[in-house]
Formats: sequence, C-alpha cells, structure tokens
Amino acid sequence: MTKATCLCGALEYEFTAPFDQMLHCHCSMCRKHHGTAFATFAAAPVAAFRWIAGKDAMTTYASSDQGNRFFCSTCGAVGPTLMPEAGFAICPAGNLLGDPGIRPQMHMFVGSKAPWYTITDTLPQHEGYPPEFGGGFGLNRPVAAAQPGVLVGSCLCGEVAYEAGAPFRMHSCHCSRCRRGRSAAHGTNVFVKIDDFRWTRGQSNIVEYKVPEARFFGVAFCARCGADVPRASSRGFFVIPAGSLDTDPGIRPQAHIFVGSKAPWFEITDNIPQFTEASPA
Ligand SMILES: [Zn+2]
Ligand SMILES: [Zn+2]
Ligand SMILES: [Zn+2]
Repeated sequence: MTKATCLCGALEYEFTAPFDQMLHCHCSMCRKHHGTAFATFAAAPVAAFRWIAGKDAMTTYASSDQGNRFFCSTCGAVGPTLMPEAGFAICPAGNLLGDPGIRPQMHMFVGSKAPWYTITDTLPQHEGYPPEFGGGFGLNRPVAAAQPGVLVGSCLCGEVAYEAGAPFRMHSCHCSRCRRGRSAAHGTNVFVKIDDFRWTRGQSNIVEYKVPEARFFGVAFCARCGADVPRASSRGFFVIPAGSLDTDPGIRPQAHIFVGSKAPWFEITDNIPQFTEASPA
C-alpha cells in the first residue's frame, strides 16, 4: 500500500498494488507543469488506485488534444492521472509518501531536455516516447538561446509570463515541501533580486499558497494550467521555478540542498555539492 498527497493535503490517494513502471519525463509540458527540470511518474494498474480525499479538489487543464493535466486547486501540486482505457493509473512520484519500492527505469523526451540540466545517471534515454509506448515525439516547446542578462519565462498555457535580470543563484531543493509542491524528485529554482523581476502578462491569474506552519515556504501557480510560476519572497528576491524558464538562464545548479529529506527513490549522481539542510551560502 502506497499513499500520496499534494502539498496542502487536499488530495490524498493510495495504490493497493505495487507500481510496475517508473520513469523521468523531460518534455517541455512536464517541465512547465511541474516547474522543474523533469517530472517522474510511477504507474500502477488502475484497479489498484483509490481516492481517500480530494477528487473534486482538482482543476483540469487540457494541455493537448491527447490529454488533460490535473492539479490541486489550492496548492497547484500535480494530481494523479487515471487511464482506464490503458489500464493504469499514473502518480507524480514527488507526491508519494514513503518508499514505493520501485526505482526510475528510463528517461524519456530527452530531446526536449532543459539546457541547464545534465543527466548523469546510467538509465536508458529516449528522444521522445520509448518504443514500447509506440515512439513519437509529442509536443515540444524549444528553449530559446540565452540573451545575456535577460531571463524570460511563462506558464504551460502561456497566460502568465515574466522577464528578469541575471540570476544570483540556482539550486535544487529536496525538502518534502518542494517535492510535494512540485510533484517531482526535487525543485530547482533560480533566484533574482526583487527589482530585477517584472511580470509581462497574466499576474491576475496567479494563485499563491503558503504552507501555514512555514516561516517562508510557499508556492505560486497559474490558476488555468497549474504550472508553477515565480513567487516574491519576503526576503527580497523572486524564486523562479527553473522549469518555467523559456530561455537558458546561463547559470547552472550550484548545490543540492535539504538532501537529508531526499526522496528514497531518487539517487543524486552528479558532482554538485550537497547539503543536508540549507546551504551555508
Ligand atoms: Zn493541494
Ligand atoms: Zn512529459
Ligand atoms: Zn497557465
């Protein structure tokens, strides 16, 4: 039995049979929807899926002719996808509580990978869908080349967009709030000074959610598509989910933080410095 919840706890569901597949997806839609470098999904037989709470607390966004994307209306975390015709239920792995037992088996859509992310593990990589899914490339939104000192980004549906100056920091956070809020292995964020950031459209579409017991931690997402968007921190900077970037930020991740809370199913294989909690810098 494996349970999963969103960041705010409104969505709660469980799987009563083991997962039989787990993979990382680097497609541009997943990167935008989760606000991260890649999304990780675990699939189980649909008969093993059961809602505990929150079935009606999700918003649906039709991201393409082929499918819908689901997210918690309160916190923006990605919800489960049920595919009864195909016989399986898909769980965004960042929302799993505990160890699901299974480990990631492949990377797909590496042809759409974020330019700032390097895959350093030895799992098989597929340009688009793997052959067992029928191949094909799906949708991709190419990332524009870097313009020196300028960041441009947007949500999945395109209603929210922003621009910013050069970032002063980039890191990946493995804390349970980032994992549940982004529904991914970890969040990766770019930081810019508050005066270097500007919304170019759609600011009124943004929903913010702050974890009640947290000092600072919160998330912001597009009400229409659920994609993670930047959020102003009371500490004087904007936190930009790196998956929302449309340009190469130039900067690369400088640290893994809160690795003491890392997902048991995710292994860090790069040489970027790791910190058990916050980084000293
Ligand atoms: Zn939620
Ligand atoms: Zn994807
Ligand atoms: Zn949107």
